[in-house]
Amino acid sequence: MSVLEKFAFGEQSKPATGKKECLIWDREHETMPRSALEKLQLERLQKVVERCYNKVPFYHQQMDALGIRPEDIKTLADVSKLPFTTKHDLRDNYPFAMFAEPMRNVARLHASSGTTGKPVVGGYTKNDLNTWSELMARVITAAGVTPDDIVCNSFGYGLFTGGMGFHYGAERIGATIVPVSGGQSKRQVMLWQDFGATVLSSTPSYACVLAEQAEESGVNPVKDLKLRIALVGAEPCTPQMRAEIEKKLNVEVFDTYGLTELMGPGVGLECPYHDGLHICEDHFLMETIDPESGEVLPPGSEGELVLTSLTKEAFPLLRFRTRDRTRINQEPCTCGRTHARLQKIDGRTDDMLIIKGVNVFPTQIETVILSLPQFEPQYVIVVDRSSNFLDDMEILVECTHDVHEAGEGAMEEARKKLAHELHQVLGLNTRIKVVAPKTLQRSEGKAKRVVDLREMSK
Ligand code: ADP
Ligand code: ZN
Repeated sequence: MSVLEKFAFGEQSKPATGKKECLIWDREHETMPRSALEKLQLERLQKVVERCYNKVPFYHQQMDALGIRPEDIKTLADVSKLPFTTKHDLRDNYPFAMFAEPMRNVARLHASSGTTGKPVVGGYTKNDLNTWSELMARVITAAGVTPDDIVCNSFGYGLFTGGMGFHYGAERIGATIVPVSGGQSKRQVMLWQDFGATVLSSTPSYACVLAEQAEESGVNPVKDLKLRIALVGAEPCTPQMRAEIEKKLNVEVFDTYGLTELMGPGVGLECPYHDGLHICEDHFLMETIDPESGEVLPPGSEGELVLTSLTKEAFPLLRFRTRDRTRINQEPCTCGRTHARLQKIDGRTDDMLIIKGVNVFPTQIETVILSLPQFEPQYVIVVDRSSNFLDDMEILVECTHDVHEAGEGAMEEARKKLAHELHQVLGLNTRIKVVAPKTLQRSEGKAKRVVDLREMSK
């Protein structure tokens, strides 16, 4: 069936009273009864385990060491017998030793940003690329994007999976894709206007930068723009950040989840009910574990997300420890999808700062900053080690134009208010420096919210 037929055939659900319109790209797989889905998952798991055992020396050794053979995987729960894969393992096997296919069958390579050390390299066969486009088609369709939409894709093109992931997904559903990439924000806003763009895709932090640019260019999103949807992902988007983007750009925000190790974006999608991210469970098996003990947690408990790729050919991964903190929600969703949801992803376990003995996540700080009207969504957390060897932090945050115009008194009042609110949430006295609007560096992709000076002061 062609893309246009798919949409024209009325195969998608019609909105009933009180129900939202939910477009579903791959109804067969996305709404599969759980029993059939679990049967498919088990078949695929058995296949991928065999593939890993026979084709990837790392897994062969690991499984031998645990005394486990592919034929020992008889139920889905048996996944817990398999070895974990960590980022560290991928680094040790850099660049290609984890691949299960010879290079002649690898059609493309991508890599993560690799902020610390060597990047993670993802390899894709032609089939993998096809699966990726299909999964991205699910993500984009779930947000309500159709062939009638013009999608300005501001995710970075290149080694980063964001740009090309969204590109091929939008192309797959038949939308008009504008491969604008990150940067040149003023020009991006102009193109939205001139092209009549209806959809924007970018990191949430870059969407904020573009919203700010629209304001600066005197563009009124209601009157001058046709944008209606923003697809965001690649970093946490707090509810406050979401509200900010929705308000400033007059769009509905849909979050998306993915990681280079598992393919890139396309792992998780948000439906119009906005209550967590559906994981494409026919392609990824998920577990949450206690990050300390490695023990599997019952669904619903908060823990570290562990993902096994069920269909990848070139670069299959067993029990990859994502380091993302989340909760799995297995309740059925009103949209009709049967795939379970990640209730929230509020950062990586390794994002956690320990300040004066208190665990602090950058997203907690962001939530407080954005709940106060005196501030812009632009901040940096500078972490340092004080003379008594305790970690200390200072938050640099931009106030709004109005607060800045009102003068130093108003800025000091805003600072006090923020300090008070942060104390309520974190139980910590924090050093805060309120700076003028547009003085902190803007991101074109993932925002770098934490500047860590500890290494230097060692
Ligand atoms: P890098 O590891 O270099 O940042 P990736 O693009 O592969 O490269 O990053 C994947 C990570 O980005 C995920 O493991 C997760 O921490 C984060 N991420 C991706 N999407 C989301 C999202 N929707 N919400 C929160 N975090 C996200
Ligand atoms: Zn749903």
